[in-house]
Amino acid sequence: MNLKQQQYINGKWVDALSGNTREIINPFNQEVIAAVPEGDESDTRAAIAAAREAFDNGEWSSTPATERGAIVREIAELIERDKEELARLESLDTGKTVEESRGDMDDISGVFRYYAELADKNGGELIDSPVPNSISRVVHEPVGVCGQITPWNYPLLQASWKLAPALATGNTLIMKPSETTPLTTIKVFELMEEAGVPAGVANLVLGAGSTVGAELSSNVDVDLISFTGGIVTGKKIMQAASANVKKLALELGGKNPNIIFADADFDTAVDQALNGVFFHAGQICSAGTRLIVEESIHDEFVNALVERVKKFKLGNGFDEDTQMGPLISAEHRAKVEEYVETGIKEGATLAVGGSRPEEPELQNGFFYLPTIFTNCTTDMSIVQDEAFGPVITVEKFHTEDEAVKLANDSIYGLAGGVWTNDIPKAERCVKNMRMGTVWINDFNLYFPHAPWGGFKQSGIGRELGKPGIEEYTETKHIFQNLKPEPVNWF
Ligand code: NAD
Repeated sequence: MNLKQQQYINGKWVDALSGNTREIINPFNQEVIAAVPEGDESDTRAAIAAAREAFDNGEWSSTPATERGAIVREIAELIERDKEELARLESLDTGKTVEESRGDMDDISGVFRYYAELADKNGGELIDSPVPNSISRVVHEPVGVCGQITPWNYPLLQASWKLAPALATGNTLIMKPSETTPLTTIKVFELMEEAGVPAGVANLVLGAGSTVGAELSSNVDVDLISFTGGIVTGKKIMQAASANVKKLALELGGKNPNIIFADADFDTAVDQALNGVFFHAGQICSAGTRLIVEESIHDEFVNALVERVKKFKLGNGFDEDTQMGPLISAEHRAKVEEYVETGIKEGATLAVGGSRPEEPELQNGFFYLPTIFTNCTTDMSIVQDEAFGPVITVEKFHTEDEAVKLANDSIYGLAGGVWTNDIPKAERCVKNMRMGTVWINDFNLYFPHAPWGGFKQSGIGRELGKPGIEEYTETKHIFQNLKPEPVNWF
């Protein structure tokens, strides 16, 4: 593997100060694919000091926005140049099919391109001052030193949502990828160095959440934490970040409802209900794992899903005919298994799946069969909790109001979908659905131009779109009196 496999701190590729390393495992066959430094609090503090100095000396933040945009655009071009290498690394690391990873890489270069274009379009505005002979204006300035923490399911995609807007707006940063899947993030730091990101501006620390992540979240020299991951970790970070009232952006979990009305295009809705969940073996924050199906088509719809699911081809993400890869780790599969056992105990009906596959060639990987539960109700924990695996729960509804009520019955509010050919009905539903993204006759579609984030406990703030760059700026009001005179009050 042609990869540095080191941390990147203050413009230098370095091992962990402790000398410790961590083995990175291919979830398809448990082979060790890399040994990377296992940084800890001291590596993190070194990276924070570098980012602090690079911000406080003002060179990066005062670099013309057009120049910063050009560097971010160059990163996009280098990602396109090395797309195949990056896609293969992502699949080795996560087990997802290389075809999915190629799609991810296109999305990632698109994110860098989008924010490169926005870099010099945030010049501020003049305010209509109510004070005679004055100028009142608003400017947007970088927040400062940003800590960025990402999960393992879309390692580089989630990193790109944070890196590109932070760099475009003149912040400095410390990125901590998931300890399970750091390889593509390391590679992109090589590309960022090649693109001309100055030393100290972007730093990479590898290691565990409890050490590196916790230090980033609590260190007083970090001005903003942007986190994508689970709700339990999100709450810990929120608490730690209160130490110096950091700005906070949280992209947390989801339990995303997908409402299927009887008047939907049946075959398309079946197909997209599968796509909405089973990419990357269901390990997607926006997976439409909560199907809510109109009673009159429920049985036919479930039968169609089950027939398709039985034919899924599980396997090595590098094989052309593989449709679904393994789960990320043994621990994660154990969690999915526990979730399925809970579903059975709670009285849901297992329509298909519910176990590991039996094929000998899949035994070394962390595979789990695509699974569908029917007869589910909102009081079941499997309907409320994120499975983060290849599992769908199906509920029935009779009326439009009931469908929306069921969809909203969740602590989460990340995303949801509605399938119907009655557009006024679809519009009524999405107006009342309490989620950050809603799709009508589609599922899981996102692009850099549209904001992404959650209502309720799915998070705070937005990534992507214009809000995704605004997260990385502070707003300053500058008032200038053109004719200062004594007030003579005192
Ligand atoms: P996780 O919360 O276990 O870990 C995410 C990151 O946080 C990792 O880098 C981890 O090392 C770090 N971390 C762990 N403990 C920490 C601590 N105490 N302080 C600071 N950092 C810490 O999540 P995961 O298992 O890697 O990812 C799956 C979760 O991510 C799911 O819940 C999924 O829904 C969510 N997710 C959300 C989105 C979104 O856009 N909303 C996108 C992808 C994933």
